Amino acid sequence: MRIVFLGPPGAGKGTQAVETCESLRIPHISTGNLLREEMAKGSRLGKTAKGYIEKGQLVPDGLVVDIVAKTIKSASFRKGYLLDGFPRNLSQARALDKVQSVAGLPGLDLVVYFDVPDRAVVPRLTGRRVCRKCGMNYHVSRDRETVTGVCGKCGGEIYHRSDDTKETVVNRLRVYHQQTAPLLQHYRRLGLLVSVRAERDIGAVSREVGGVIRRMAGSAAHAAVRRPARVRMALPGKKQARQR
Ligand code: AMP
Repeated sequence: MRIVFLGPPGAGKGTQAVETCESLRIPHISTGNLLREEMAKGSRLGKTAKGYIEKGQLVPDGLVVDIVAKTIKSASFRKGYLLDGFPRNLSQARALDKVQSVAGLPGLDLVVYFDVPDRAVVPRLTGRRVCRKCGMNYHVSRDRETVTGVCGKCGGEIYHRSDDTKETVVNRLRVYHQQTAPLLQHYRRLGLLVSVRAERDIGAVSREVGGVIRRMAGSAAHAAVRRPARVRMALPGKKQARQR
């Protein structure tokens, strides 16, 4: 299954992506994480990306499309993947179609839109702290890990992302509305878009996302009876559905 998680920064896409990828057993591709890894390595790409990321601007399309293209062409991505934070504008969406078709991969099955108002985004992001090792998110208003500075999941160091400051968050939101939000109409027209109400707590959002994915997986499996080439997907089991 090939899925895109779309929505403003701080909508919870990353948190939900981890759960969805575990359930569907597909890899998670977060362009933000890939760029931050390059920054940590101090590579040329990382140094270029840093300037844009810290201002809350988009990293140039060519650089981001290159990383995604290299990633999804590798063998472990043939079964499917979840893209989180990509595409972020229409030109990236078109580039993704091209990369998939050149690589002989099927197109997207689903785009999940995490609908959350701007007023919820600023406090979510300015109070967010992240584990440097496993990427787990915490919030200063509820998680003691933000006081101890140690990740409860993997023991990694908790840090405050340099682009989670108020000024940069406001800029990221502006960029989202100008450049990324037009993708909603694009994917709606293609019949791929499903919205989830992402302002609620993590558990409620997770149940809704799980339901959307199960319905999509069910109808894709049904369609695959007529189109056998697309049967190659791992469906979330009934057991997982009952656990939610
Ligand atoms: P994220 O972790 O998705 O919030 O992304 C953090 C930052 O990385 C963004 O504000 C951008 O500067 C950059 N970035 C991530 N994904 C993309 C993308 N698809 N296109 C351009 N820049 C991106």
